[in-house]
Amino acid sequence: MRILVVEDDVNLNRQLVEMLTEVGYVVDKAFDGEEGHFLGDTEPYDAVILDIGLPEMDGITVLESWRKDGRNMPVLMLTARDRWSDKVAGIDAGADDYVAKPFHMEEVLARLRALIRRAAGHASSEIVVGDVCLDTKQSRVTYKDNPVKLTSHEFRLLSYLIHHKGEVVSRTELIEHLYDQDFDKDSNTIEVFIGRLRKKLYPEIVETVRGLGYRA
Ligand code: CA
Repeated sequence: MRILVVEDDVNLNRQLVEMLTEVGYVVDKAFDGEEGHFLGDTEPYDAVILDIGLPEMDGITVLESWRKDGRNMPVLMLTARDRWSDKVAGIDAGADDYVAKPFHMEEVLARLRALIRRAAGHASSEIVVGDVCLDTKQSRVTYKDNPVKLTSHEFRLLSYLIHHKGEVVSRTELIEHLYDQDFDKDSNTIEVFIGRLRKKLYPEIVETVRGLGYRA
């Protein structure tokens, strides 16, 4: 799952990026509205954390422009605490949810998880595929009720496929959503990780759809 953080407060931006990385997301960051707008317009994100007060271009304008261009990724807005008008403006502009500053990191995480799940069409925090259960809240995977130990790369890959269960996901889409911009796109990393998932879980957990991609 690839997340974009747009926040001009350097400390807060760093804290958000650290926390999101720690729980297994791939994170890109921007410190002003223009840079954030460009990234959100050109890169595929599974969710965006967008501050309202930003230099160059404010958060509302950024979001309105994305929505006008048909960019529909879930957006969690960060608003100032006492500015109810900000919240209204954010929701009018197409925000999916908001958190008022100052906030607890846990709250941002919980809201983000819910947005990503809902965008993928899952109401519950647990998503089941065959005998495998992905607990999005605990970032845990069980197979026949037994916990399975996965590396962060394996977890991200499986989590993306399970969020899109039943759909064919192309290799390009996986690379775009699971790695940051510096990733070597010609490597066979995806195949290697898919192989490991099949070994740790069971071979049919991920099906290869020849010429198209993978399906959980
Ligand atoms: Ca700000």
